[in-house]
Amino acid sequence: MTAPRLLAFHRGYHAATKRAGQVRLLHILRPELVNGSPHALCHIHAWDCQQSPRVDLPEFPATPPEGLSWCPRCLGMAAERLGLAQRLASMIQAALSVTTKEDRP
Ligand SMILES: [Zn+2]
Repeated sequence: MTAPRLLAFHRGYHAATKRAGQVRLLHILRPELVNGSPHALCHIHAWDCQQSPRVDLPEFPATPPEGLSWCPRCLGMAAERLGLAQRLASMIQAALSVTTKEDRP
């Protein structure tokens, strides 16, 4: 099985706009179009806007660029598409099993 080609992107705002500095998430581009338009795996649109072009990273990074963090929805969807959902669930279960009784709500 060949892994789908996934690209990472984030919004790019011009420094002069009030949205500058508000870009926090690195999303994963859906390989197929949705209704003829590009979208992230989490369903946000991925087309250029007037003052917010889509910024594609040249390679899929192991860690996000400084100042950004992974979109958690995109990561979950990517794990499912790559057949890693069960491994992710096992990691979550392992993390939960080390919490103490006092940590639980
Ligand atoms: Zn996303």
